[in-house]
Amino acid sequence: MIPAAAKPSHTLKRLGAQLRGEVGKCIADYRMISEGDRVMVCLSGGKDSYTLLDILLSLKRSAPVSFELIAVNLDQKHPGFPAHVLPQYLAGVGVPFRIIEQDTYSVVKRVIPQGRTLCGLCSRLRRGALYRFAAENAVTKIALGHHRDDIVETLFLNLFFGGRLKAMAPKLLSDDGRHVVIRPLAYAAERDIARYARGRAFPLIPCKLCGSQDNMQRVAVKKMLRDWEQEFPGRTESIFSALRNVEPGHLADPRHFDFAGLDRARLAPISEHDEEVLAAAFAPPLPAAPRPQPA
Ligand code: SF4
Repeated sequence: MIPAAAKPSHTLKRLGAQLRGEVGKCIADYRMISEGDRVMVCLSGGKDSYTLLDILLSLKRSAPVSFELIAVNLDQKHPGFPAHVLPQYLAGVGVPFRIIEQDTYSVVKRVIPQGRTLCGLCSRLRRGALYRFAAENAVTKIALGHHRDDIVETLFLNLFFGGRLKAMAPKLLSDDGRHVVIRPLAYAAERDIARYARGRAFPLIPCKLCGSQDNMQRVAVKKMLRDWEQEFPGRTESIFSALRNVEPGHLADPRHFDFAGLDRARLAPISEHDEEVLAAAFAPPLPAAPRPQPA
């Protein structure tokens, strides 16, 4: 039985307003949603996707453009998955929804050797199923629940273990070029989402039903960022700001900055004549002539 939502406290209302502001700004900054869009919200049953759906439903009521929302969950047949929870919740909030059933769990268990992390293949299969649904149901935007901390973690994972300066874009085209994927929680901090999800008492579904091992690299990066944040509050926010304020000319990738063209861009050296004109223009004023004294 899903408990009825309690009356929101003052703090929860303020937090909701803050999250709506962040999501609204993110949507506007990246032109994520346009008139007539059919937005598919991917729901896993975790705090992030519940929060995403909740905030989008609330923004939809006052948005300057009209768009549709459809919530979609992929039931991957993990042992113990409480299949009744999401349908019950979604029917309660009155949003159109679909539950897709596909036993990716058995496939992943069969293919990945014991003790190895299952997440790579599992995510690829999930993505494939969701993209297929989007293509068959006239979905124009696929909304995912990744937040600011996910994006910064991914940046460091790529930096430390992949030798690439790459994070997660708030809006992107899928690899096959057929879907626009949006991450409207990109400006929101995980701790705020967690507090909001607790306050709203979303019926969370445990995320370890698959029995996958944690990705140790991600765990290490998460810990590093948490420790930094404790020592220097605001550091994660600052790192995220840097992702929106990139200066390719001060990095080292010739694919993103025309280093070779700098020679052509240089101003012509100034001539002797120009130097004289400049010297005259910037010469200190002559001292004023002494005033004649009255006799
Ligand atoms: S944690 Fe489990 S459900 Fe999530 S991606 Fe990894 S294997 Fe799949």
